[in-house]
Amino acid sequence: MEKIIEYIRKVSEKLDKARIMTFCGTHEHTIATYGIRSILPENIELIPGPGCPVCITPASIIDEAISLALNGVEVITFGDSFKLPGIKWTKKDYPKNLMEAKERGGLVRVVYSPLEVIKEKDKEKVFLAIGFETTVPATISLLERSSNIKILSAHRLTPPVMKYALEKHGKGNINGIIAPGHVSAIIGAKSWEFLPKEFGIPTVISGFEPTDVILSIAELVMMIKNGDAKLVNTYNRVVKYEGNVRAQKAIEHWFEVKDASWRGFGIIPNSGLFLKEKWKYLDAYWQYGLKLEEGENDNPPGCRCAEVTLGMTKPNDCPHFLKGCIPERPYGPCMVSAEGTCRIWAMVFGRKKG
Ligand code: SF4
Repeated sequence: MEKIIEYIRKVSEKLDKARIMTFCGTHEHTIATYGIRSILPENIELIPGPGCPVCITPASIIDEAISLALNGVEVITFGDSFKLPGIKWTKKDYPKNLMEAKERGGLVRVVYSPLEVIKEKDKEKVFLAIGFETTVPATISLLERSSNIKILSAHRLTPPVMKYALEKHGKGNINGIIAPGHVSAIIGAKSWEFLPKEFGIPTVISGFEPTDVILSIAELVMMIKNGDAKLVNTYNRVVKYEGNVRAQKAIEHWFEVKDASWRGFGIIPNSGLFLKEKWKYLDAYWQYGLKLEEGENDNPPGCRCAEVTLGMTKPNDCPHFLKGCIPERPYGPCMVSAEGTCRIWAMVFGRKKG
């Protein structure tokens, strides 16, 4: 490891500055937990990117899920979405999140896997399906095996938001990208070829161990120094060029790609997965006539989560960070999930401070 760090130091001496965006919350988790920023030369900046699916789930989806739960429909959710705030609570007396809806008598159940409910035939349930491409196969297992559940799809696609983030940063301001590992296992390394080809940005698909991340940074600084934009897969023990073709076919069978709303960002073209028309009897949007609003202004007042998620500001620039917004009582969405940058920084740096 020391030799690789030495190598990074040597190569980066010839660089002005290298701004590297890490897409995944899990990469940011590794970087913050193992203090990787502190061992890199000052001219290498690691910027956390938009890879937290909970952080970008539109507030109106949460408000609609709360409304279903309060009206007798059981809402099934993963633990990391239980405290995810909606937006209605900021204007009127309304539960802030599904946890508060449950406290007020709403039907909400937290599961480790949606498969926990497949055999239940009593009352109708809605599964709050949050996640990027990685979690869609679990939703499909549910669709294939249960006749008693509707899907509220908040599934979002990663390549379109990567493009969106790059456009927000502006040409030339991101010099390298660490692309997601888990997502790439599904969609394949091929899905990131557009980054070097269209944007001219060196890109490395990385695993999540500290050594994986440091190796990926070494690959990137070398490419940046040589002005050589390529796609490199350092996680080939898991990620194949074509990805998981069986999973891709299953996704295509059930879902279609449409424009979708992202929390704090608004609509991003072709960035969401929604059940196809022929499966509408399984679709909570159709079944319950749910209406979703665009997500551009759906963070609570003062919350800077949209900028944090795009890597345009840091959590400690937000006035609420570790004051009104803490992991136990999140005010904004980036403090909720273990993949949210604010929560990661609160857990790592907040603990050190305290
Ligand atoms: S600290 Fe809380 S309020 Fe501030 S940006 Fe992060 S999630 Fe939003």
